[in-house]
Amino acid sequence: MGEIKTIGLLTSGGDAPGMNAAIRAVTRTAIYHEMKVKAIYRGYKGLITGEIVEFKTQNVSNIIQQGGTILKTARCDEFKTAEGRKMAYDTLVREEIDALIVIGGDGTLTGARIFASEYDYPIVGLPGTIDNDIYGTDSTIGYDTALNTIIEAVDKIRDTASSHDRLFFIEVMGRDAGFLALNGAIASGAEAAIIPEIATEVDQLEDLIKNGFRKTKNSSIVLVAESEITGGAMHYADRVKKEYPEYDVRVVILGHIQRGGSPSAYDRILASRLGEASIEALLDGQRNILIGIDDDRIVAVPFSKAIKNDKPIDPDLMKVVKILSI
Ligand code: ADP
Repeated sequence: MGEIKTIGLLTSGGDAPGMNAAIRAVTRTAIYHEMKVKAIYRGYKGLITGEIVEFKTQNVSNIIQQGGTILKTARCDEFKTAEGRKMAYDTLVREEIDALIVIGGDGTLTGARIFASEYDYPIVGLPGTIDNDIYGTDSTIGYDTALNTIIEAVDKIRDTASSHDRLFFIEVMGRDAGFLALNGAIASGAEAAIIPEIATEVDQLEDLIKNGFRKTKNSSIVLVAESEITGGAMHYADRVKKEYPEYDVRVVILGHIQRGGSPSAYDRILASRLGEASIEALLDGQRNILIGIDDDRIVAVPFSKAIKNDKPIDPDLMKVVKILSI
C-alpha cells in the first residue's frame, strides 16, 4: 500500500445532526497532514457518477453548527451490485483517491466493508446515525441530538396529556433498535418504553396494564420504537382502544423532526474527535475499521466485528424506566 496523498469523503444513508462537524474535522485534519481532500456528493451514488469537488479548509467553514450534511446523502441500490461497485472503483482510480472516509449507518458500513474487501481498498468508517445501533461504539454521531429533540417534544406533549388525562403513545425512530425509545423515556420521565429488542419475549402492553402503570397518574406517556417487530405506536393504540376502552388514547409519530436541528455539544465533540481520529488511523496504516468511542476513549473496531454484531441494549435501563414510573 503506497502513501495516502488524497482522501475521498462521503456521507451516506440516513442523515444525522453532527455529520457536518465530522466532515469539517476530517477535511481539516487531512489538510493539516498535507493530504488532498475530495468531497463526494450524495454518498455512493456520487461515487459512481463522479460528483466530486476538491475541498479546502474554507469549504467547511461555518458548518459545525448545521444539521444535515452539506455533502448530501442518498440511498444507492447500484452500489449493492458488483457492476455499481466497479464503476465506483473506476471513479476512485480516475480521481486518484487513495483512501475513503465514509460517514453513515449500518448499511453504509456494510457497503464499505464489501467494497474494501473486493478491491483491497483502504476505508475508514465513522458511525453517523441517530439510531445508535452500531456495535463497538457507545454512541453514534446524531444520537444525542435526536434524544434532545425527543425530550423537547415529549415535554410539550406532557403538558397537554396531563391537562386532558390522556394516554399518549409516541413513536420515535430507531429502525429496530430501542436506544432512542428507552433513553428517551428515561430522559423525559415517560411511564414506559416499548422496544423491539424485547418485543418477542414479553407482551409489553400487557405488562404495563397489569402493573397498573396509571394508578397514581392522570396522564401517561409511552415511547414506542418504530419497528415492524413492535408494530409501532398505532398498533398499541388500537389494542388499548379495543381492550381497555376506558383509556383516552392518542398517538403522536415524531417522524423526521428527530433527524434535524443543530447538533448538541456532545455530538459536535464526538464528531470532531472521531473525524480527527479517522485520518490519524489512516496515517497509522489502519484500514477497514470503524472509529468509535468506548468509555470516552477513541477505539478502532474492524468492520467485520462492527457489522456482524448487534449492539445490545442494557436491560437495566428498562428496570430504571419501570422503577421511576411508579
Ligand atoms: P444507513 O447507512 O443509514 O444504515 P442504508 O441502510 O440505506 O443507510 O445504507 C446506505 C447505503 O449503503 C445504501 O443505499 C447502499 O448504497 C449501501 N449499502 C447498504 N447495504 C449494502 C450492501 N449489502 N452492499 C452494498 N452496499 C450496501
